[in-house]
Amino acid sequence: MEQRKGRRLILFPLPLQGHMNPMLELANILYFKGFSITIIHTNFKCLNPSSHPHITFHLISANLSESEAAEKDLLLLLSHLNKKCCEPFRKCLATLVSDVSKEPVVCLITDPVYDFTQSVAESFKIPRILLRTGSASFTAIISAFPVLQEKGYIPKQDSRLEELVTEFSPLRVKDLPMINSSDPERFLKLISNLTSETKASQGFIVNTFEDLEQHALATLRKEFHIPVFPIGPFHKRVPATTSASTLSSQDWSCISWLNTQAVKSVIYVSFGSIATLDEALFLEIAWGLANSKQPFLWVVRPGSVHGSNWLELLPHGYLESLDGGGHIIKWAPQKEVLAHQAVGVFWTHNGWNSTLESICEGIPMICMPCSADQMLNARYVSDVWEIGLQLDNGIERGEIVRAIKILMMEKKGEQMRNRLSKLKDKANLCLRQDISSYQSLKDLVNHILSLEI
Ligand code: UDP
Repeated sequence: MEQRKGRRLILFPLPLQGHMNPMLELANILYFKGFSITIIHTNFKCLNPSSHPHITFHLISANLSESEAAEKDLLLLLSHLNKKCCEPFRKCLATLVSDVSKEPVVCLITDPVYDFTQSVAESFKIPRILLRTGSASFTAIISAFPVLQEKGYIPKQDSRLEELVTEFSPLRVKDLPMINSSDPERFLKLISNLTSETKASQGFIVNTFEDLEQHALATLRKEFHIPVFPIGPFHKRVPATTSASTLSSQDWSCISWLNTQAVKSVIYVSFGSIATLDEALFLEIAWGLANSKQPFLWVVRPGSVHGSNWLELLPHGYLESLDGGGHIIKWAPQKEVLAHQAVGVFWTHNGWNSTLESICEGIPMICMPCSADQMLNARYVSDVWEIGLQLDNGIERGEIVRAIKILMMEKKGEQMRNRLSKLKDKANLCLRQDISSYQSLKDLVNHILSLEI
C-alpha cells in the first residue's frame, strides 16, 4: 500500500458483469496506489458496498421502468441506461465535487459505453479517463469501422462471412464485432460513440499487457494521440477477495468437487453473464460433455436457456448417468476455478475477461463466441496465439468430443499448453518492477497527478 495521496478519483462502472469486474479491480489497484476512491453505481444491478469498506459508494437511481429493466435487446437496454442515468449522475457528481470535507476530486474514470460522461465531466471541468474493458485489438478494430464499412465488409453479408479481412488478418468477416438488435443502426452508433468518447478523453486504460497485444497497442498509440495505459492483467494485481464484484452469488461447492478430481482432468464450461442458448444447442453441449467421458464443471445461469428456468430441459436421469463425473452450478467463483489444479480445459464464449483469466492460468480454450467482441477474441485465441480451438464444423456432440480429445490428449493440445505456459509467465512478469504493465501503472499514476485542476 502506497502513501495516501490526498486526492479522490470517481469511478462510474457500466452495470454489466464484464464491465463491473475490471472497474472494481481498477478501483482497488488505484486505492493501493494511494488514491481515495468513490464509485457511483446504479440501482440497476448495484454493487455490495459492505464487501469493499475502503471504497466510498454512491447509489443513483437509473429510473428504469420494469419493462426497460427487463429488456433483452442489449443495445436497447444500454440506450435506456444512457438516457436515464445522465441527470442522476450529473446531480451526484455535483454533490461530490462540492464536498469540501473530502479530498479533492482530480479525475473521473468511466466506461465509454456511457455516452454522456464526457460532457458532464467538461461541465464540471473534471478530467476524464476511460477504462476500455475489451481487448486492445477490439478498440483498434472498431476505430477502423468507417474504413471497413467503406470497403463493404460491414454490414456483414452472408456471402462474404468466410472472407479474410486483409487489413486485420487473420480476422474473417464473420469475426468482426457485432451485437444483434431490433435496429441494426444501433450497433454502428454505439461503435462510433465508443471511438469518439475515447478520442475526447484524457487517456485510456486497457486490461491487457504489452506481450499479448503489442501490435494492437502500437496501432492505438499511433491512431489516438492520447496516452494509452495497458496495465493488465488487472485481476493478478489485487487479491480476489478485495475486488470481487460478482452480481450473482457464487457457488463454492464446486471447489470441494474439484478437489476430488484428478489434475488437469476437468472441462470447465461457462459462457459468461449475458450469452443465451437455445434448447438444441443446450442439448448438444450436454451430450458432447457426457460422451467425452471427461469430468466437467458446467455453469448454467438460470434463465440462460430459452424456454426453461434452469435444467428442466436436460434428459431425464442425465446427471445420475454421469455418476458424479459432472457438476452443474448457477454461478462459479471463476477465477478460483480456473486457478484450480483439476481444471484442464475452459469451454468459453470468449468474453475478454474470461479469455484473459484463462490465459493467466495457462488453460487452453474451446471457443464458442456468441456476440460483440467474442468472435474477435476467439480468432486471436485459435489463430494468433494458438491456445485454443474453434468448433468450425458446428456445435455438434461429435465435434465437441473431438475438440475435448484434442485439447486433453493429443500433441496439438500439448503444444497449446506449452505456448500458454510462456504467456502465463509473461502475464506474471509484466506486473513486476520496470516491465511493461508495471511501468504503465506508474505512468498512469503520474498522468492522473498531472491532470490536477
Ligand atoms: N464469471 C464468474 N462466474 C461465472 C461466470 C463468469 O465470476 O460463473 C465472471 C468471469 O470471471 C468474468 C466475468 O464474469 O470476469 C464475465 O466477463 P466476460 O468478459 O468474460 O463475459 P461477459 O459476461 O461480459 O459476456
